[in-house]
Amino acid sequence: MENLFEKHTVEARMLDFSEGFTEKAIPVEIRKDCFTGTVSRVLKSRMRFPQASHEPEMIEASRHNCPFCPENLARSTPKFPADLVPEGRICFGRSTVLPNAFPYSRYCGVTVISDEHYISLDRFSVEKLFSALKASTLFIERIKANARDVSYASINWNYMPGSGGGLIHPHIQVVVNRRPTHFHGRLMRSSADYKMVHGANYWADLVEFEKQNKSRYLFNYGGIEFISLFSPGGMFGEILSIFKNMSSIRDLTDETLDSYARGLTRLLKSFHRMHLNNLNMTLLMSLEDDDGFWIQARTVPRVSLPPLGTSDVNYFEKGHDEVIVIISPEDLAEEIRLTD
Ligand SMILES: [Zn+2]
Repeated sequence: MENLFEKHTVEARMLDFSEGFTEKAIPVEIRKDCFTGTVSRVLKSRMRFPQASHEPEMIEASRHNCPFCPENLARSTPKFPADLVPEGRICFGRSTVLPNAFPYSRYCGVTVISDEHYISLDRFSVEKLFSALKASTLFIERIKANARDVSYASINWNYMPGSGGGLIHPHIQVVVNRRPTHFHGRLMRSSADYKMVHGANYWADLVEFEKQNKSRYLFNYGGIEFISLFSPGGMFGEILSIFKNMSSIRDLTDETLDSYARGLTRLLKSFHRMHLNNLNMTLLMSLEDDDGFWIQARTVPRVSLPPLGTSDVNYFEKGHDEVIVIISPEDLAEEIRLTD
């Protein structure tokens, strides 16, 4: 396992004007996860948590004509055709699944988490997240039953505009596909290759390695392991949640969804404490059993950097497929473990 994690450090030299132009060497740690192919550059010298939170004025203004608020939802959002979802929209608890008005796949749902227009990251309860996850899996199961040509699904979240979210009202997005997406497919192929070469499940080996190593391991809820990734895909790191021994949607029982909601709630509270107030989450699954690939979620905190509101995505990621990271994955893990 260790061979799959490559790391080396280079130094950039400069004469520092703030210290009488004395020479200074600034380290850059270049990390590669050879399994996922992710390359990141960890710049510990840039570390600084953002100060800004969401503007109350912006949230207040967005309430007007919000299609997901309860007074508008029934008349301002689409319904599914009867051959897919006979009742038009799927409801569970306080969550509602409706068609994505801007679809990017044949089967695209949006799950409105609850009737609350704005929820800060420290106020997502286990019940709210469980109900949204349950409603989303009911939608996936319904599509699986009514459209025979689907084999893969994902539950996704852009929380707030800084992560790509188009509406303030909390909602997650559910996609059901015939083929895996590019990254999902790459992970599945690498999992199958690893199994062929090593005769073992990569995800089981990864969990074991990180548990022994301790520095990036976070916690476990009901068989779901939370780990800070060695080579993350975001400026403030990336958290992987591995659903041990679970490969298909059949494994997502109420108990499992509740466990994941518990772990995710803790993660969101820790992001809130660090002022990391936007995020992307992606939960990948197969609709059939696959003994090489386990269900897994990736959560990436997203930020706008002070003082200009600078984006955390830059030319390095867009043009070089490498990610600039300003907190080491090990330091991030330590910060997250501080939150109960
Ligand atoms: Zn709303």
